[in-house]
Amino acid sequence: MKPPVFAYHRPDTVEEALALLAELGGDAKPLAGGQSLIPTMNFRLAQPAALVDLNRLDALAHISESGEGGVFIGAMTRQRAVERSALVGERAPLLAEALPFVAHPQIRNRGTIGGSLAHADPAAELPAVTVALDATFHVRSTGSERRLRAAEFFTGLFAPALEPGELVVAIELPAPAPRTGWAFVEVARRHGDYALAGVAARVMLDGTGRCADARVVLLSVGDGPVVSPGAAAALAGQKPDAAAIRAAAEAVRQEVDPPGDIHASAAYRRHLAAVLTRRALDRAANGAAQRHSGTAAQK
Ligand code: FAD
Repeated sequence: MKPPVFAYHRPDTVEEALALLAELGGDAKPLAGGQSLIPTMNFRLAQPAALVDLNRLDALAHISESGEGGVFIGAMTRQRAVERSALVGERAPLLAEALPFVAHPQIRNRGTIGGSLAHADPAAELPAVTVALDATFHVRSTGSERRLRAAEFFTGLFAPALEPGELVVAIELPAPAPRTGWAFVEVARRHGDYALAGVAARVMLDGTGRCADARVVLLSVGDGPVVSPGAAAALAGQKPDAAAIRAAAEAVRQEVDPPGDIHASAAYRRHLAAVLTRRALDRAANGAAQRHSGTAAQK
């Protein structure tokens, strides 16, 4: 399969890229790792008149500390570099845990964090993780710069909250809160395939070991990352024991309305969503409890 004819631009700076995108308007698309965009063009599902290649924009490829213990990741950082970063492992361990589930190493060597997020595939791992971690997206155009919370960024099926001419330039992940545990789990037919369903979970305990905050975000069961308010409510103020976790998983089972397709029926995806929620919360709660007893032991 070959893509339709398109004009190709390769700017050297972010400012040049933004100016080109502004000039070319909605007919142009940024090209990052090309791991989703090029196949989409080859299948003629996307037919941009022009591509603006971001691969020379070294200013967008970085991982650095952000104030108060968080981490800042440039949009053109390759997924593999994020996966291997000690700073990400320390400050955003849920992201580090999820990355090996994204496709295969060869694809992660080329695919970028910004490309995966801007593509906004409902079956992708990274959108759910950024919502679970309450990441901030830094977005620029020629005339403006804005910040969006991850939950605002994903507005529907392959629909990021980006206007023509805007680029995601970085994401910022907040410092992990104390007494917090996390887990990422998914089921795919083969490792590296898109998940049939998956869950990113985060549990934070208060000083008495009760749940102060919990977030369960699902992938592959809706139009984008699906947050479960029922799971959070089932855990709020509770010791995250087996009964509370079962109640949270049951809330997910009742809330989700997944699609069925050739890979899995809607009923099977709903079942997976509940089972995976239980597994993820078990691990997240155990991790939080260990960090809780560690904090108590230090006192
Ligand atoms: P590109 O393909 O270059 O771009 C994707 C989209 O984002 C395009 O619309 C582009 O215009 C836009 N874009 C890119 N960068 C920016 C930016 N900075 N600002 C604004 N818009 C931008 N992904 C998963 O999550 N899970 C999987 O299991 C998985 N399996 C895969 C299996 C195969 C065989 C392949 C080929 C891909 C798979 N992928 C999977 C997709 C892969 O993760 C892609 O790398 C990723 O989705 C896109 O990143 P990219 O850098 O290649 O972006």
